[in-house]
Amino acid sequence: MEITVLYRDNETIHFLVEGIDVAFANALRRTMLTKLPAMAIDEVLIIENTSVMYDEILAQRLGLVPLVTDLESYNLPEECDCEGKGCSLCQCTLTLEKEAGDEDLIIYSGDLSSQDPKVVPATNGIPLVKLAPGQSIILEAYAKLGTGQENAKFQPVSTVAYKYVPIVTVDTSKCDACGACVDVCPKKIFLLDDGTISTQNTLDCTLCDLCVNSCEPGAITIDSKEDTFLFKVESTGALPPEVIVEKTAELLKEKVRQALDFASSL
Ligand SMILES: [Zn+2]
Repeated sequence: MEITVLYRDNETIHFLVEGIDVAFANALRRTMLTKLPAMAIDEVLIIENTSVMYDEILAQRLGLVPLVTDLESYNLPEECDCEGKGCSLCQCTLTLEKEAGDEDLIIYSGDLSSQDPKVVPATNGIPLVKLAPGQSIILEAYAKLGTGQENAKFQPVSTVAYKYVPIVTVDTSKCDACGACVDVCPKKIFLLDDGTISTQNTLDCTLCDLCVNSCEPGAITIDSKEDTFLFKVESTGALPPEVIVEKTAELLKEKVRQALDFASSL
């Protein structure tokens, strides 16, 4: 298996994986979505809420705020020595205390203060509730590690998708360079230059077949590589994208090892 990183920024990573089949590609994707833990608020103690928002709705909004996750310092509650009751090794407390003065006040995710500086909202600009003059909110929220299998709020990825790598071939003996494919391609991968059609950025091809249908039969063929996949992973901000991929590979390896152990014990 060979992995080539094509693009990376703080939230996103695009990479090619060669030498795998579609079942393995899907196992990677589903492990990222459902098995890789991330922190999220799971319990909220509302001490005061005079806003117009119901306590339950406010608690649900808090649960959906992505939190920067520290996988090294926290245990999954079910694997913790406290047996999930909640201790400093499996739970982090965030507090919010705000009162509107003479004007409306919008409370943002950045107004939450955390007892652990490593576990904070991934972005400060998520609006939670709007307070009218004189209204106030005091609450304590408890964040824990969980997996997407339990609740989608624990997913560390907002998007994880893969596709086959396209192979776009132009048969110059059948192509009359009419330029129809240049106009019809939504990803602009065809170029008409000096009466010949050439291709560029073929990884952007969405396999829509518009070029094939607009052209002479057989002039353009779109195929895909059987064993190569282009992955696009977008983090919620909980974990850096490359950590998501690394930890997923470790998780998958561990699961395979467990399956082999089980099979050999039969
Ligand atoms: Zn614990």
